[in-house]
Amino acid sequence: MKLVYGFLLLLLTSCGAKETKQTENSKIAADAKNHSYANIDAIHTKHLHLELEVDFKLEKLRGVARHIMENHGTNKAIFDINGLIIRRVTTGIESDEVEVKFILGDTKDPILGQALIVSITEKTKQVNIYYETTSDSEALDWLDSALTSSKNKPFLYTQGQAILTRTWIPIQDAPSNRITYSADLKVPSDLMAVMSASNPIEKNSEGSYHFEMKQPIPCYLIALAVGDLVYGDLGNHTGVYCEPELLKASMYEFEDLPDMMEAAEKLYGKYAWEQYDLLILPYSFPFGGMENPRLTFANPTLLAGDRSLVSVIAHELAHSWSGNLVTNETWNDFWLNEGFTVYFENRIMEEIIGKRGADNLALVEFFELEEEMERINSSEHPEDGHLFLNLKGRNPDDGMTDVAYVKGAFFLKTLEATVGRKKMDMFLASYFDHFKFTSVSTDDFVNYLNQELLKKYAIDFNYQEWIYHAGIPDNCLKIESQSFENVKSMAKSFAQGNDIFSKAVTPNNMSNRAVMKDEAGYGAPLSREQYSVQEWLTFIRHLPEDLDSNKMNLLDKKLHFTTWTNAEIQFEWFMKAISSNYTAVNPSLRAFLGKVGRRKFILPLYSALYNHDDSRQNALDWFDEFKENYHAVSSNSIASALEL
Ligand SMILES: [Zn+2]
Repeated sequence: MKLVYGFLLLLLTSCGAKETKQTENSKIAADAKNHSYANIDAIHTKHLHLELEVDFKLEKLRGVARHIMENHGTNKAIFDINGLIIRRVTTGIESDEVEVKFILGDTKDPILGQALIVSITEKTKQVNIYYETTSDSEALDWLDSALTSSKNKPFLYTQGQAILTRTWIPIQDAPSNRITYSADLKVPSDLMAVMSASNPIEKNSEGSYHFEMKQPIPCYLIALAVGDLVYGDLGNHTGVYCEPELLKASMYEFEDLPDMMEAAEKLYGKYAWEQYDLLILPYSFPFGGMENPRLTFANPTLLAGDRSLVSVIAHELAHSWSGNLVTNETWNDFWLNEGFTVYFENRIMEEIIGKRGADNLALVEFFELEEEMERINSSEHPEDGHLFLNLKGRNPDDGMTDVAYVKGAFFLKTLEATVGRKKMDMFLASYFDHFKFTSVSTDDFVNYLNQELLKKYAIDFNYQEWIYHAGIPDNCLKIESQSFENVKSMAKSFAQGNDIFSKAVTPNNMSNRAVMKDEAGYGAPLSREQYSVQEWLTFIRHLPEDLDSNKMNLLDKKLHFTTWTNAEIQFEWFMKAISSNYTAVNPSLRAFLGKVGRRKFILPLYSALYNHDDSRQNALDWFDEFKENYHAVSSNSIASALEL
């Protein structure tokens, strides 16, 4: 997934001594390592078949989850549930079902949910769980038509990662448990259903859809969306689903997708999932993208109109190898998913926009990592600076920081610089091939790294320091960018009161991209077009924290940051406006918070508003007004940041 904001997440731990009389059977402790109650070593699902009705009126999914299981001789099958009502449980195939007993675990953990313990026999091979979802099913985001782009049809989507699949399907919800799945869904006939599976390209007049995912996947990748959708084919087995009025913009924005696919396959081998489509979700979607197999869920803020934010799509495509094909065994190994993906994403972008552009993308991320590291070092959990984590008793979302993503990627970049690109690419291609369709622990990776790369070529590399220690090791690859240095000194010069607008621009203080793009730009006054989005982000970031309002106003007048319809720029500008108490942005900031639900943007904005005395009340009022527009993933984090 890309890219979550790691700070101030739910710190929900069960506190106080809750005295309950526990029966022998219901005393089930969740495996701390796996964040799951399921007894997958004794019995585990091989295939899941869902039969569900999607009821928009009651905002409920209702039906049955049929688990076809491999039973190693146990008389108890344990599943994870959270926020579900279990109606009844049977065993046996559809025509021959037998009602069986089940109990719920006594502990209802705010993070892990509850165990569902089903009595079976040593021979049981199929368990059918009849259930419905509730308003506590946090994976589900039911949207009124007002929150869609068409504004006339409702929308539903799920977000399973990390441990929310159990809130819409009773399931053994550990990432090490890979399953295939199929589904029969009934939805309102004016809507289309799509899943992380084989998908329709047209609406079915009865609203009945059948889905198959034939490759084994971890449960967090089961995903569903229902809405007024159309499909556009982009070629080379890629395409895009979206609401009808977004089709043209989406086809334009993601036109490079077939080229990205070609670049990715050239690097690390054939794409394993046949089809690769994007689904453009409504604005409430909490992430930039989610790598649901065959169907990446994408945030509409990526539709910048200038293809400047497509690296998020390169990221999600890269997950088709790192994460989906080779999966972290536990959430402590999350960096194996994300670090590899950020590294791979950057290699794809290098093919699409060239090395300089890719380096600038990586540099922006590195600055974010440095800020995150500072925060982590002074937090309650400085050990979160390790790549390999210990999330025992904590929400796995706590591990979704820039450490997994960017420190992980720079570990691989530094390794590449040490061993050379050729050996690195051979190693990674063989890693993906060797571990395909399995889950891998950090130990598995380290053993493979030693065996297939370091020992093989007698290379000395400080991987222990990178993986098992906090901080950024001294040998970390340094990326230099002249254009970034230029905009940084421009920011400094502006803050000192110098005129940066009317002065003739010379090749020395222009980015090379701009020089190539527009020769006529020489000598022209400063304009937005002279720099890329990443360069402007760097410019804004290097302005002082409390720039006076006259200077903020001047920048806005000349460069129009407040009204620039690029969410990354708007976000960075609003952050600067909050720290500078530049309230002229407030109407635009309020509109942004009312529309966008992407946690990477709105959590820091709310936190910054809340942390400044002058704007604290705005944070509370606006959150109260807009919280219904957000997915639980975002609203829970914000509520916690606002101490609600
Ligand atoms: Zn990701």
